[in-house]
Amino acid sequence: MDLAGKISILADAAKYDASCSTSGSARSNKGGVGNAAVGGICHAWSADGRCVALLKVLLSNACAYDCAYCVNRRSNDVPRTGFEPEELVRLVMDFYRRNYIEGALLSSGVIGCPDATMERLIAVAKTLRVRERFNGYLHLKAIPGASERLVLEAARWADRLSVNIELPSAASLRAVASDKTPAAIFGPMRVLARAGGFEPRRLPATSAQPAVPLQDSPAETPVSFHSQLPAVSHAVRDIRPMEGGADLPARASVMDARALRRRDPGAAVLPAGQTTQMVVGASPESDLHILTLAENLYLAYDVRRVYYSAFVPTGGDSRVPALAGPPLVREHRLYQADWLFRFYGYSAAEVLDPLHPNLDPSIDPKAAWALRHLERFPVDANTADYRELLRVPGIGPRSASRIVRARRLARLSPSALKGLGVVMKRARWFVSCSGTMAVDAGRVLDRPDALASLLRDGADTLLEPLQLEFAF
Ligand code: SF4
Repeated sequence: MDLAGKISILADAAKYDASCSTSGSARSNKGGVGNAAVGGICHAWSADGRCVALLKVLLSNACAYDCAYCVNRRSNDVPRTGFEPEELVRLVMDFYRRNYIEGALLSSGVIGCPDATMERLIAVAKTLRVRERFNGYLHLKAIPGASERLVLEAARWADRLSVNIELPSAASLRAVASDKTPAAIFGPMRVLARAGGFEPRRLPATSAQPAVPLQDSPAETPVSFHSQLPAVSHAVRDIRPMEGGADLPARASVMDARALRRRDPGAAVLPAGQTTQMVVGASPESDLHILTLAENLYLAYDVRRVYYSAFVPTGGDSRVPALAGPPLVREHRLYQADWLFRFYGYSAAEVLDPLHPNLDPSIDPKAAWALRHLERFPVDANTADYRELLRVPGIGPRSASRIVRARRLARLSPSALKGLGVVMKRARWFVSCSGTMAVDAGRVLDRPDALASLLRDGADTLLEPLQLEFAF
């Protein structure tokens, strides 16, 4: 097969991997070729709406594993091919020199065994860095089950590594991707956390989230917040990312933990850290389950990003549901909830609870939380602290900071908020300025259903008629 044929197959096979985004590392050119910029590598959007980083390609799609959700699984009848490491090095350099790409995400099916595959990926990365003096962004996949030594070696050459958790429970891993084990996933994650200077943490108990066991011992009690979940809670019983390390003095929010963690985008080893990906919709876990696991991964392993990849049905495998199409709305809501962890100070237990284990597809999770906590509104923009402001739909980190700064100079009025970046069409129901609101929201705040209809995505065009209907 010629090079163009290989690129066509292996780039297409790689598009299902969602775990790439802006680079997060900064390294200037020291006489070689290229830079790695914090601003990120180029993105492309494939026809099905997925983000595809150039060059995002597999070393080989001839995989020895048989993960039911994956188009490259052993039992799937698709054309197989692969690059020689030298071929892929040439391809990256040629694309880079032509200015087609600013970096590469290199992954692979399991070629024989995890270590053999990892060695080939390392050979590509090392050749790029050492012989070609390639200084651009490199994101490598850590192959589940690869030895600690090789994962560490890969971390020497890559800006970012990702170990894809793929399924959010041990039970689903066994059912859908039986070649993989929790140990083969969390082992490399632990190694990468330490390579980045982070000691994997034990998460202490809170009333909402009791203590998490440290070891994968069958004798231990399962994480009790999962025991509160409905039927599918079997789940994380033996998929516990929290091991080793000292207790935190208190269970920090993901936002606080990230703020405390000093990062060096120019670090010699793994400057852009590690990421992971979960496939959504190929197994029965609830959104609460998925988000709780994601939160734990952020806190316990210093995972830089958790990506959620809507399961793309490829057909012909009874181990996964026969969906009509990928659950893209669910994926979108999970990303929004994840954003609330990282930038708004929410916890998984706030976003969802056992009574509401799944995100509402029709409303964003921040608005949904506000509707469940109307007693906390309206928030006064002239007195509320930064965190309270962040809870207001329509106020984000930037506008909350601007409000805090602006009110030092003058008392704010509702009309001033818009100029500070507040999205008033959402915030006006939830924010006041020294007792004055932009609308008379009192009657709506007593009617969560009415307010929900105003906040649902796509309802904006209906706002004016609805206002009249409620006689403001
Ligand atoms: S290991 Fe599983 S997910 Fe990865 S390429 Fe092979 S079949 Fe696909």
